[in-house]
Amino acid sequence: MSNWENNVRKVVPYTPGEQPKDTGIIKLNTNENPYPPSPRVRAVMDSFDDAKMRLYPDTNSTVLVDALAEKYNVKPSQIFVGVGSDDVISMAFLTFFNSDKPVLFPDVTYSFYDVWADVYRIPYETKALDDDFRINPDDYKCENGGIIFPNPNAPTGVFENLCKIEEIIEANPASIVIVDEAYIDFGGTSCIPLIEKYDNLLVVQTFSKSRSMAGMRIGFAIGNEKLIKFMNDVKFSINSYTMNPLSQLCGAEAVYDDEYFVKTTNDIIETREYAKKKLTELGFTFPDSMSNFIFASHAEVDAGAIFEELKKRKIFVRYWNKPRINNHLRITIGTKEEMNRLFEALTEILEK
Ligand code: PMP
Repeated sequence: MSNWENNVRKVVPYTPGEQPKDTGIIKLNTNENPYPPSPRVRAVMDSFDDAKMRLYPDTNSTVLVDALAEKYNVKPSQIFVGVGSDDVISMAFLTFFNSDKPVLFPDVTYSFYDVWADVYRIPYETKALDDDFRINPDDYKCENGGIIFPNPNAPTGVFENLCKIEEIIEANPASIVIVDEAYIDFGGTSCIPLIEKYDNLLVVQTFSKSRSMAGMRIGFAIGNEKLIKFMNDVKFSINSYTMNPLSQLCGAEAVYDDEYFVKTTNDIIETREYAKKKLTELGFTFPDSMSNFIFASHAEVDAGAIFEELKKRKIFVRYWNKPRINNHLRITIGTKEEMNRLFEALTEILEK
């Protein structure tokens, strides 16, 4: 090893789901939305003046922040926007998780949390979910340097009710509690209203799932003004010009098109409920999902084998060869047609 290598910041990076280049693939592996974004997003793109790209973007993303403030009934100063919620959460880790005590999160959860903790050298401790993949709030009533969990959780899809969330926030006045609501729009109840009551709560959401805009990279956090100011101070100490002008405008239009948002999220919820019935008929079991995916396992056939067989048939789902979850498949809810193709393939695989 060369001498300089001793000083390199070495990390094991996050592994994103595959983005295959082939055509004709049914892609149910990264929780993307099967529908296009709102037609109002298309309209912005069609009329966008490319000369604007000559200029630096608005560092405050004012059009987008104003749209979000109106939608969630908070002040613009209570909103932080970033390039996807990954960017937002990463900034939140850097801003708020700054003590020698461990940050706490569930053992089965979004696999980026431990990566951010490692890259920023933040100590962390995982708390085991119970056998039904549920959080026990008592696990979070100990000394800690911060708390983060998704609600609904990923990759399980399990939604925890707000009483449980509030119990955790209330027990931790000396820590910031981040609730990652990437999947909240598929039937859960957001804890955004709790920010009025608790100054240690930060709620993070994304445009990648319910607003069909994963490629635009828009995420945001809502909290009290003081928290948002601290996050912006860190962000503006690293890179002021994060979100491009087209994303800012498209994001705002997507927020204003509530009708399209309600229709597409309801369609996904309906397909999810249909998928639950079909998967049960095929012999799968899963925790009840309130997200746009189902975390399923089969009593007789190994999840890794099903994953490979599906891939051969050009159907991509997500599989992790990790303790506790190595016999589960995370299946994103696609269109009804895509799901029917999946069920046909699963029937064939399970009959073999
Ligand atoms: N949080 C959770 C729980 C997720 O599953 C994802 C998607 N991988 C994200 C955050 C990040 O999504 P994005 O950066 O696209 O907003």
